[in-house]
Amino acid sequence: MASFIVLLGAPGAGKGTQAEILAKRTGLPHISSGDIFRENLKKQTELGKLAQKYMSKGELVPDDVTIAMIKERLSRPDCAKGAILDGFPRTPAQAKALDEMLAELGGKVVAVPFIKVPEEELVDRLSGRLVCKANGHIFHKKYNPPKVPGICDYDGSELYQREDDKPEVVRNRIRVYLEQTAPLIDFYRARGLLVEIDGNQPIEKVTEDLWNALPDEVKAQ
Ligand code: AMP
Repeated sequence: MASFIVLLGAPGAGKGTQAEILAKRTGLPHISSGDIFRENLKKQTELGKLAQKYMSKGELVPDDVTIAMIKERLSRPDCAKGAILDGFPRTPAQAKALDEMLAELGGKVVAVPFIKVPEEELVDRLSGRLVCKANGHIFHKKYNPPKVPGICDYDGSELYQREDDKPEVVRNRIRVYLEQTAPLIDFYRARGLLVEIDGNQPIEKVTEDLWNALPDEVKAQ
């Protein structure tokens, strides 16, 4: 049975950074709904143009569009053993749809680490975040700087600031998270899958806590 990890946490909590590390360690693919939307935008697909209308304002892309996109992604062969999900599900309807897709695909959610960071930290983290143009690798001006300013350590591509990391949009993203995504914390807690992780620690320490929270079947991949 394929094992899926759902990373929960506010924008800026460190889901993307940690998902990337956990994906390398477990061999499972890192699937970020935000990255898929940004890829589509870069390629100017219809999906990308539609998503942009919502992303630029810090709103969520409608559930039906997002669910169809993730369903297609999870049905690819690289997800046969499972995946690390970053940014999906983000609403109760998406969480229900995820269960249905996984039932069809022969998989299940095995752990839901919730990376907790105080709200006042989030704006600081998001406004200093830098992302690489080629592959979406994540850095931070202060907390996780690249070796050479403005250049990705991993692939040498240019780093940029996401449009939606600008302060006016950040505040709306946090509001949307509290209203639409935070209810998933109780949803997964009720199912015994939630593990709270203190995200207000150095990156390596958060990784260690996350690793300890993963079930053995995932670590052994
Ligand atoms: P992220 O990279 O996870 O911060 O996502 C960036 C933006 O993509 C969000 O602010 C939303 O506009 C959109 N997005 C990403 N994931 C989802 C999702 N699961 N449901 C709806 N919109 C999403």
